[in-house]
Amino acid sequence: MSLSTYMALCLSHPAHGYYRTRDPFGRGGDFITAPEVSQMFGEIIGAFVAGAWQALGRPQKVDLVELGPGRGTLMADAMRVAAGAERVSEIINVVLVEISEPMIAAQRERLSGFEPSWLDDIEAIDVGGPPLIVIANEFFDALPIKQFQKSAGAWHERLIGLEGDVLRFGLSPASMPATAIPEAVRNAEEGSIWEAGLAAQQAAQGIARRIAARGGVALVIDYGYAETQAGDTFQAVADHRPADPLASPGEADLTAHVDFAALAGAVAEAGAIPRELLTQAQFLAAMGIVPRAKTLSRTNPHLSESITADLQRLTGREQMGALFKVLCFTSPGVAPYPFGDT
Ligand code: SAH
Repeated sequence: MSLSTYMALCLSHPAHGYYRTRDPFGRGGDFITAPEVSQMFGEIIGAFVAGAWQALGRPQKVDLVELGPGRGTLMADAMRVAAGAERVSEIINVVLVEISEPMIAAQRERLSGFEPSWLDDIEAIDVGGPPLIVIANEFFDALPIKQFQKSAGAWHERLIGLEGDVLRFGLSPASMPATAIPEAVRNAEEGSIWEAGLAAQQAAQGIARRIAARGGVALVIDYGYAETQAGDTFQAVADHRPADPLASPGEADLTAHVDFAALAGAVAEAGAIPRELLTQAQFLAAMGIVPRAKTLSRTNPHLSESITADLQRLTGREQMGALFKVLCFTSPGVAPYPFGDT
């Protein structure tokens, strides 16, 4: 089967899919994300949402949509910041796009005060309606990819099949036309792998189309690369450790790095405007995370060491600061801080 089929089954199969059956976060879980590292992350997103609302001309109503909200921590921290402003509950309608029952239960507990509604698919978001603000942290990396490998000078799709009772990678016997491979990687050396994040591009277009129609702003934060390139980034994590992605289907988190150039291209094609790509460190610094950390440390002196460590984890070059990127896209004529006009 195609890697995209394998990934979709492992992550989202109704009975056995990784996301359907467990809460992958926290101490006993498999991984930890930026909003789970520190409340500062969600608070910064809250400040961004407030700025985006202003950039949209302070509409009376907005739908604030989060894709894959996990435990609801980011939204809770963001809304705590926004709640300082007047009439926020009248203006902001919270919509959560989620497929995981355990996650929905956690979100319900955490966010019931904001009376959110749930959808299980981006395509279920209304194409008409009030302006949209969309947030996605570590959502796009979980969407299925396909891989293609150069073998004897031609590109072949990488497939997964059984050898005895063990899953193995192999290559499709039929080769792809070279023109189906992006120019940036077409001439890569023998053995190179190119990843096509088609589901991510499709999801980004679904959001972009709605933003173009309704007016709006989207913020996508994820690990990935700025320019389309060759490389195998398909990976599995179980118990906080790298695992063999074919070893225990449905038991490990499977992800791939996001091709932000491809995402921006898809967004532009669907009528939204991709803004300059920032690293997570650049974005958080521009949004004032350093003074925020200082204020937090001043009011919680006993926590100041861990606040400094969290800041480093979110922004350090060797940690999340450089690998994670922030892509903002908007309807025409809207430029929320810190994304200037382009
Ligand atoms: N944003 C959260 C969680 C990231 S993990 C955080 O930063 O902590 C990915 C999230 O996306 C999980 O909540 C998972 O259940 C959800 N998810 C994965 N695939 C999805 C899909 N196809 N549609 C909707 N939600 C999905």
